[in-house]
Amino acid sequence: MLCYVSYFPIALCYGNVSSVQERSPSVIVIGGGMAGIAAARALQDASFQVVLLESRERIGGRIHTDYSFGFPVDLGASWLHGVSKENPLASVIGRLGLPLYRTSGDNSVLYDHDLESYALFDMDGNQVPQELVTKVGEVFETILEETNKVRNEFSEDMSIQRGLSIVFERKPELRLEGLSHKVLQWYLCRMEGWFAADSDTISLNGWDQEVLLPGGHGLMVRGYLPVINTLAKGLDIRLGHRVTNVVRRYNGVKVTVENGKTFIADAAIVAVPLGVLKAKRISFEPKLPDWKEAAIAELGVGLENKIILHFENVFWPNVEFLGVVADTSYGCSYFLNLHKAARHPVLVYMPSGRLAKDIEKMSDEAAADFAFVQLKKILPDASSPIQYLVSRWGSDINSLGSYSYDQVGKPHELYERLRVPVDNLFFAGEATSMSYPGSVHGAYSTGMMAAEDCRMRVLERYGELDLFQPVMGEMASLTIPLQISRM
Ligand SMILES: Cc1cc2nc3c(=O)[nH]c(=O)nc-3n(C[C@H](O)[C@H](O)[C@H](O)COP(=O)(O)OP(=O)(O)OC[C@H]3O[C@@H](n4cnc5c(N)ncnc54)[C@H](O)[C@@H]3O)c2cc1C
Repeated sequence: MLCYVSYFPIALCYGNVSSVQERSPSVIVIGGGMAGIAAARALQDASFQVVLLESRERIGGRIHTDYSFGFPVDLGASWLHGVSKENPLASVIGRLGLPLYRTSGDNSVLYDHDLESYALFDMDGNQVPQELVTKVGEVFETILEETNKVRNEFSEDMSIQRGLSIVFERKPELRLEGLSHKVLQWYLCRMEGWFAADSDTISLNGWDQEVLLPGGHGLMVRGYLPVINTLAKGLDIRLGHRVTNVVRRYNGVKVTVENGKTFIADAAIVAVPLGVLKAKRISFEPKLPDWKEAAIAELGVGLENKIILHFENVFWPNVEFLGVVADTSYGCSYFLNLHKAARHPVLVYMPSGRLAKDIEKMSDEAAADFAFVQLKKILPDASSPIQYLVSRWGSDINSLGSYSYDQVGKPHELYERLRVPVDNLFFAGEATSMSYPGSVHGAYSTGMMAAEDCRMRVLERYGELDLFQPVMGEMASLTIPLQISRM
């Protein structure tokens, strides 16, 4: 195979090696989720030649809007966390005029739900009185404040579960019995859902380190895909290109995909999920430094899935969320009512942690049945769904997990270590965001950061000042109000 590398180390190659031939700086973006698309968009707008390699036959990654029901439903992300101009995605969503449905304001004990927005039921289908839900919610907040004191006293980190049991030992009056205990377990279940992990694995030191943007939480009523599609317009995206090897040298990078095809450029942005890096599905030459490999190994990846049930008609109460309380958080369950937000006869069951792992072992049909059995606990006369969709973020080789979280005993700085570039390799993705891990806006902002770092490195090396527009240009300055409502 012949390969001739031109002056601006952009390759002109033969055989099965692809080339990018003009004398402007070039970059290969690996992964077409929000982070990769944001980085590619920004660098293309800054006059780089950009090729984006995406393993799936679609873009979006953990943004996956499905239209098979005849309307959009999201199998991955569906909320904008922080409906305000402080959100780095606000200008894009605002410009598109996409409607949002508010499910909670700021300071909700469970982040994206308000206490009054859901109806909880016991296993016999009896609704839990709303006063009890509110009262237990307040106790849960008190318990979390007490765990704060615990972590200040202990030098060593511990799990949230251990922190809770120390609080119960010290303040037995906070230990609830009977139905109240079950409601408390439901709050814990929702907290575990936020982190996509069980309370015995989540770090007490790290669980509240992310920055919560103001403006509450809004559901993307028409799905998240339009945002991705808009940012991706005009980019050179190669679908079905699974990267297996990345070689970095002083004067450029060489990226190989599964079928042996090779791409060469000045720099690469690695925007694949943490789960993919953990599983070493991409090999790096020379190998990544030890501190980077340690960050990849030590940061946690959790699991949350969606089982989306489409019914002939609506037979459930007109609340935003329906929940079933149980003796343990594992036994609790939770449905988002898409009829309230988007007028579609759809309920979305969202298991996380060990429960989600157990359900992923089932067939789609068995998983949908499992969700339906949970619903029948609330509504014994529920009619069967006419269609269903089941996500498998844990076993999908393109994600190998849902999103990152702080594991017990590991510092929050791991996110930053994951982001820090290695020579001409730049890293982006939700797991590289110290401030907004596990979110779409976090992924977006790290894509922008990686693009800016990459642009600066090329500028420094080649002094091509006139070539480039700043990456954080026009979009950030536009302030079109977001359209959010609640019924
Ligand atoms: C069920 C669920 C619910 C969620 N809910 C929300 C929510 O409501 N709000 C919110 O803000 N966030 C939510 N999130 C998190 C959010 O979806 C992610 O943080 C964000 O979309 C991640 O974007 P990313 O670009 O970092 O990664 P991804 O979107 O995963 O993109 C990475 C891309 O890399 C590709 N890839 C993988 N391996 C290779 C390879 N070898 N070669 C080439 N390409 C490869 C993948 O196919 C993928 O397209 C949710 C996530 C899940 C799973």
